[in-house]
Amino acid sequence: MPTLVFLIDVDNTLIDNDFVKSDLDEHIKVQMGETVTNRFWELYEQTREDGDVINIPLALKWLREQTPLSELDEQTYEHVHSLFDNYPFFNALYPYTLETLRYLRTPGLTVILSDGDLYFQAEKIFNSAIAETVEGRVLLYTHKQEHLHEIMKQFPADHYAMIDDKPQILIDTPQSLCNKENMQQARNQRTFILILACNISVTCGPTVPNNFCMCSQY
Ligand SMILES: [Mg+2]
Repeated sequence: MPTLVFLIDVDNTLIDNDFVKSDLDEHIKVQMGETVTNRFWELYEQTREDGDVINIPLALKWLREQTPLSELDEQTYEHVHSLFDNYPFFNALYPYTLETLRYLRTPGLTVILSDGDLYFQAEKIFNSAIAETVEGRVLLYTHKQEHLHEIMKQFPADHYAMIDDKPQILIDTPQSLCNKENMQQARNQRTFILILACNISVTCGPTVPNNFCMCSQY
């Protein structure tokens, strides 16, 4: 019987990350005020520019270094840090997320494939019970589309279904597979289904090779 692996994104696919960000914004504004909070989000974006991905511990470190105690005392800073460290991600799961992950385990193997800030991603995935629900199969990368070959070696299957909210990652996936030598044969034998996790329908476009499908979910 052909085997199937689901490669499932986290942010804005399983967890409502936009809600998390606005919720944290609301809480840290209460603690630090609007000016220091705005400075924090600027530093947050700066970590993305410097390192290509968001790095919250680094943004918090920069905030401490660049903000005098008269504007942000140590106790408030530690409290804000703990709001990030202990955020209840379980509450930010989309409805029926864990049930869906359990259901997908029947036709195939579920693997979490996430990227971004590695410390907070790990925290988020464990804290929200996602890791437990997929029996610990969690892969974290800075840029996941650069590691597809390793992933396919680690979880060999006849078919893969990649679920992500970012169309660009889905478009990059066949491209990055095609760029590697010796992949033509593998591509011919395997199906990669690309599923956009959002509320809109996306049909196959010219940038998606014929043997790759893009469809909608949710
Ligand atoms: Mg995402």
